[in-house]
Amino acid sequence: MQATADDLPHLRDAMSLAARAAQRGNRPFGAVIVGTDGARLAAAENSATTDNDVAAHAEMNAIRMVCRSAGQAQLNGAAIYASGEPCPMCAGAIVRFGLRRIVFGRSWSTLAPAIGTQAAGVHVAVGAIAALAPHDITVIGPCDLAQHHIDKPGMVTT
Ligand SMILES: [Zn+2]
Repeated sequence: MQATADDLPHLRDAMSLAARAAQRGNRPFGAVIVGTDGARLAAAENSATTDNDVAAHAEMNAIRMVCRSAGQAQLNGAAIYASGEPCPMCAGAIVRFGLRRIVFGRSWSTLAPAIGTQAAGVHVAVGAIAALAPHDITVIGPCDLAQHHIDKPGMVTT
């Protein structure tokens, strides 16, 4: 399955947030959550270093943002756009809280060398975790924005 034209602005913004996270000294990840009505519910970046919170991944920050601003129920059926393939922690939260569509940019295999993941890191593909859900979850990625003629990460101004 491919990303649609409706997906691309959200994915582009997630990539832009990833670049901003890196500028602030955090790992380069961003995430956007869009509700079932198409309205954007949250846009967040990784803040693990600056918040001294190992769980402050972009996806977790976006999920928390939705819960605080609109309520957890808004996550049901929502879509999440992540600059990189969600890690097992975030994928578990995405499944647990009822999001139904995951669109991500870079794959873990291309991200891990770039961010210097510690040896203790373990990776399970987001698609494998989503497949364990009791409901259908669409997983799309990796998506190369360059193929869609959209600015590359780091070239988007905010
Ligand atoms: Zn994560």
